[in-house]
This record gives sequence, structure tokens and C-alpha cells, in this order.
Amino acid sequence: MTGPAVVVGGSVAGLATALALAERGFPVRVLERSAPPPEGPVDKAAELWQRPTVPQSDHSHILTSLGVRVLRQRAPHLLDAAQEEGARLLDLTRAAPTDTFDKEADDHELVALAVRRPLLELLLYRAVRALPGVTFDHGTAVRGLLLDPDRSRVAGVVTDRGEQVPARFVVDATGWKAAALAWLRKSGVPVGEDLVGTTQLRCLTRFYRLNEPGDDWPGPLNRGNAAGGIWDHYAAVVHPADNGVFAIAVGALTSDPDTAILREPAAFTTAARMSPYVAEWIEEGASTPLTDVRAITMPPNILRSTARPGQRQIAGLFAVGDAACVTDPLFGRGMSLALQHAFQLADLLDTHPMVGEYQSENAVRLAEEVHRPWYEQAIHDSRSYGDLWRARAEGVTPSPVPPVVPGRPSMADVARAAGVDSAVWRGLLRVLMGLGPPAEILDSDVLQARVRAVPAGRAPLGPLPPTRQELLEAITARRER
Ligand SMILES: Cc1cc2nc3c(=O)[nH]c(=O)nc-3n(C[C@H](O)[C@H](O)[C@H](O)COP(=O)(O)OP(=O)(O)OC[C@H]3O[C@@H](n4cnc5c(N)ncnc54)[C@H](O)[C@@H]3O)c2cc1C
Repeated sequence: MTGPAVVVGGSVAGLATALALAERGFPVRVLERSAPPPEGPVDKAAELWQRPTVPQSDHSHILTSLGVRVLRQRAPHLLDAAQEEGARLLDLTRAAPTDTFDKEADDHELVALAVRRPLLELLLYRAVRALPGVTFDHGTAVRGLLLDPDRSRVAGVVTDRGEQVPARFVVDATGWKAAALAWLRKSGVPVGEDLVGTTQLRCLTRFYRLNEPGDDWPGPLNRGNAAGGIWDHYAAVVHPADNGVFAIAVGALTSDPDTAILREPAAFTTAARMSPYVAEWIEEGASTPLTDVRAITMPPNILRSTARPGQRQIAGLFAVGDAACVTDPLFGRGMSLALQHAFQLADLLDTHPMVGEYQSENAVRLAEEVHRPWYEQAIHDSRSYGDLWRARAEGVTPSPVPPVVPGRPSMADVARAAGVDSAVWRGLLRVLMGLGPPAEILDSDVLQARVRAVPAGRAPLGPLPPTRQELLEAITARRER
């Protein structure tokens, strides 16, 4: 097998894979269909970077504790560079529920990075570009695969200009559409079965800058890395970022015509001002909008056949990041999982460089280990909030959603107990932040007993959001003429 490692897609997953492979001495060629980012100072270039092929990069992105852990271990220079450019590490233990919260040894991991995605990604791009052995072909869309005559292993890719690029192996980092699977089908190669589960969310985002940025935020970060909540009929959350910038993200059901008006700035602002923990960020004089309201429909949860042992695999072809698995963006795990997957895939290819069945089996097991727990949790959590929101919209009682595994408490029950019990709070946060798989934390007898000890009917702590009717009346009254 000759040629470099070809990485198709130069976004978070592709860039991290290229970085990790190049650092291990592999020659790497990154083929990316969009134009390169602008040159110049990082903050300006990040703001000017147009990403039509990555529409979600215009929306707020959190980097969970898992993402920070991966950067600390694998690319500390990147974490340092981000902070030098204005990103902030947030100490999540500040949101612990009790004054008597005693830190444990692992709690140094309970941090998140407040940064706009394009800024972090630009730093990643520049770090990769500076490495010897990496070449970028921007404006190059891959259209197909070169396969060996028996079509069981990949030999390279074919670009939209018809260029045949030989590859030692090919990494599909093309995002949630996982383009390589379509290329295989086009070549008449049967591919394995994906698992798919709906998400039901329309996300609306607007960015702002604080008028007087300082060490303190305008209000408490009650969620640790965010302020606001996923409420019983909508979500409204502030995500602090770098350099005094923050985003407000409002989530509503895609199928709900009554909340479609939230795209209008006046309705969006009204909803934000009615939302607990969010209002103070946009009080008169506190901040200035930087953008219009941006809308996007979330992709479904998907676990691709490339992350499912027992499904047909093509030797030398690997999927990474969203191309392997997509989890509901409401839970903000995609980038962190992509980073973890990318570095571990590079380790694996370094340890098992021989293309073949053994390498493929190990790669698919790795992909499953990284993604499957989060796919399963996301399926459950998407359904939980989706069914609840739909029931509120229809004025009916929501039906209970079965747990991921029998006996596992729902996230709503864990969250209720976490409001008063710091051990449960720690467990919940470690799951939300990707630090430990849900099974390891939520299936523990000790945690489950503590969750049960908090009465189910206990009213939630803190301010309550508006009812659906109050919200709809207010946003409709602000309809722009
Ligand atoms: C609204 C929204 C909010 C989100 N919020 C968060 C969050 O808060 N935190 C978080 O961690 N994650 C979040 N995510 C998920 C996150 O955006 C993804 O997990 C992440 O972008 C995955 O990175 P990727 O590199 O796998 O794919 P992408 O970022 O989608 O990149 C794919 C790349 O492949 C390129 N490409 C595609 N096809 C070809 C081709 N044929 N040839 C060459 N190049 C090609 C594209 O141009 C692009 O650069 C969110 C997602 C959405 C939709």
C-alpha cells in the first residue's frame, strides 16, 4: 500500500486526525472541499472565516471536560494558545449545589473551555499546517474511492477534478453525512447498517459581546459551563466564549409552528429575557448583539456501520468524528468525541500499521467504544425532551420514556437529586461533560440509592421558566411588523 494517509475533510475531526498522524511520523494529505481560512490575527481571521460546508460552526459550541482532557493530554499547546487568544477555562465546581462541597482528586477535570468554535478550530488548523509532512488541498471535493480489484480494501480517493490520489489509508472526516458510505454504494460495494434515531430540535443562536467584560459574568453559570436550562417545553442557554463574547442558544421543537417566530430578533430577545439565568446577560447596557438570529435544524443521532462490530468493513477505510457517530447537539459532545476518537485512531494506526482485517476490527471496536455509550444516551435523552416538549405543546400528559438500561435513573431524576446532593451532582456533571460513560456512573448502586433518597415530587430549586402559554403570548405580542 503506497501513498500518504489521506484525510477527507479538514474540520475538527479531520484536523485532529491529521495532527495526531503527522506527530506519529505519517505523511498526511488533507483534502477539504472548502476554501482555507483567512490569514492574519487569530481573532479577526476566525470572525471572517466563512464555513458554508460546516453550517453549525456559526452556532455556539461548548468544549466539554472530555475535550479539555484530550487537549491537555494530547495537544496542550493548543489549549495554551486558545487561552492566549482569550478563551477561558471554566471551573465547573463553582456550580456545585452545596456550600460544603469538598473537592475530590478528580475534580481538577471538571473544567470546560469557553471559546468560539472557529477560534479553536483556526488554531488547530494552523498547528496542523505548521507540521512537516502535512499537505492541504483546499477547494478539493472527494467524489469517490479507489478500491482494490476485489473491492475489499481502499487504495485511494478520486477528487472532483478526476485526480486519483493513492493512499496508504483513507480517513473519512466528512461530517455527519459520512460521504465514504455513499462512495462505496456508488461503486456497488454493499455497506453495513447504520443505527439512526431522531432528534427533534431547531436551534436558534445569537452572539453578543459584553459591554464591560471582566472576570465576573453578568449572572451565575448555574450549569457550570452555561447559564439557563433545558426546561419542560424549550431550552434557553447562555454559552460564554472568548474575549467577552457569548452566545444565547434557544431550542424548540422542529415540528412546533408556534415557536417558529423565535427566528425573529424581537421574539428571540423576549424569550431570552423571560428565561431564568439568561435574562441578566442581555439587560439594557449589559451587552451588544454581534449577529442576527441564526437557525439550524439538528441532524439525527446516528451510529454508523463503521462504529458497529459485525458490520461489513472495507480495509484501510476509517471514519472519525461525526462521520462515525452523531449525537444530539443539544448535549454538546460532538467536538469532544471527535477529538478523542481522532487521537485514539492515530494511536491505533501507529500500533497496527498493516492494513487488513485485524486493523479494521480494532478500529471498529475503538469507534464503538468511543461513541456507542453516548449514542445510546443521546437517543434516550433526545426522546425524553422531545416527548415532553411535544406533550406540553399538545396539552397532554407525557408518556414515560424507558431507561437506556433497566434500573438506570432518568437524567431528569438525576438532575433533581443533583440539586441537593453534591455526590450526585458530581456524577451527573461527569456524565454531561463526557468524563465517564453513563453506565459507569449512572448504574452505580450508590448513586442510584442517593437519587432515590430525594423525593420524586420535590420542586426544583431556583427560578422557574415561563409556562408555554406565557412564552407564546409574549413572543407573539412582539411579532415584528
Ligand atoms: C447546531 C449545532 C450545535 C452544536 N453544538 C456543539 C457543541 O456545543 N459542542 C460540541 O462538541 N459539538 C457540537 N455540535 C456538533 C459538532 O458541530 C460536530 O460534532 C463537529 O463539527 C464534528 O466535526 P467533524 O470534523 O466530524 O465534521 P464537520 O465539522 O461537519 O466537518 C466536515 C468537513 O468535511 C468536509 N467535507 C465534506 N464532504 C467532503 C468531500 N466530499 N470532500 C472534501 N471535504 C469534504 C467539509 O467541508 C467539512 O470541513 C453541534 C452541532 C450542531 C449542528
